[in-house]
Amino acid sequence: MSAFPEGDTTNDEGERQQWSQKRNPMARELNVINTGSGNSDACTYMWACAICDENERCQKDKEGHSRWLVAKRMERIEHKVLIMSNKGGVGKSTCTTNIAVSLALKGWHVGICDMDIHGPNIPKMVGAEGQKLKVSTSGGIIPFQAYNLKIASMSFLLQNSDDPIIWRDAYKYEFINQLLGGVDWQDLNFLLIDLPPGTGNESVTTIDLLGTVSGAVIVTTPQEVALLDSRKSVTFCKDSEVPIVGIVENMSGLECPHCHTQIDVFRKGGGEASALDMGVPFLGRIPLDPDVVTQSDAGEPFALFNSDSPTAEAYHQIANQVEAFCKKSASLLKVGRTTTGLLKGDR
Ligand code: ADP
Repeated sequence: MSAFPEGDTTNDEGERQQWSQKRNPMARELNVINTGSGNSDACTYMWACAICDENERCQKDKEGHSRWLVAKRMERIEHKVLIMSNKGGVGKSTCTTNIAVSLALKGWHVGICDMDIHGPNIPKMVGAEGQKLKVSTSGGIIPFQAYNLKIASMSFLLQNSDDPIIWRDAYKYEFINQLLGGVDWQDLNFLLIDLPPGTGNESVTTIDLLGTVSGAVIVTTPQEVALLDSRKSVTFCKDSEVPIVGIVENMSGLECPHCHTQIDVFRKGGGEASALDMGVPFLGRIPLDPDVVTQSDAGEPFALFNSDSPTAEAYHQIANQVEAFCKKSASLLKVGRTTTGLLKGDR
């Protein structure tokens, strides 16, 4: 059984082992062995292969087991929502954290799956930087809990936050499998999945493994180059048959703290125009607010600590629309489907 990604041409086993351990913090932390096809016996352990004692000698169909495990974990989650953008730095992780907090403030059970392998910032935004995940005795990796949110991220597996991740696609596939199936999410109303920017391997694999997605929120900033990219995200969702909750225009106008004049640093209104043009809902504008940066850096989600401010209100309004969209699509799906009974009654 190969412990290395397909296409690896290194012959020396020791060298390969070192290569793996050096580049793959997950392998180092959790002794990951790459999934390969053994015989077709199905494994029904709730353990992910990466943390299973029998992994090295196991001859079972690991690919099948991984998919089964993801399906098992995901069936306990009412709504899976992707937060995406085609450009980095537009505020996707900040939106994810604040929408999650808004939903949790309403009493929902919420998790965040930080799928950004190369820039996992969610832990920093909830003050959980440097924390490590533990493995439970009943099966699975225990997500980190902060502000009543369950969180899993690559960041929790890094020895040093400055370490870059240099992975081939096969490792990324394994990691995405672990985050969805290896983590013991338990019952959740919402799992927000913070995708990395772009429409590459991570996004495609995540959608493929999830099977059904309740919807995608596309975050953009108002300037022309960001809008061009957000349109790619819309097309990607349509091609992947992922329902689009709508577009968020982030960093939309700054109110000068001294004279209170509006300054449109990245221009304004482009996100709304883009949504209209692409025929998808517009979810609203979030102002460029310096306090968002300060609080994010301090690990204090803005929508929780400044719940009554206009910027927080913008996050709450977007969260309301995510909730309404998911409830509506769930009620459509309920025909012919058993529910997990997780949804609370209308409030
Ligand atoms: P992405 O996930 O798209 O790469 P981040 O969420 O990490 O982007 O945000 C990038 C930076 O922009 C962070 O420093 C964050 O605090 C800041 N930021 C995000 N949204 C806002 C906003 N509305 N106002 C001011 N700063 C913001």
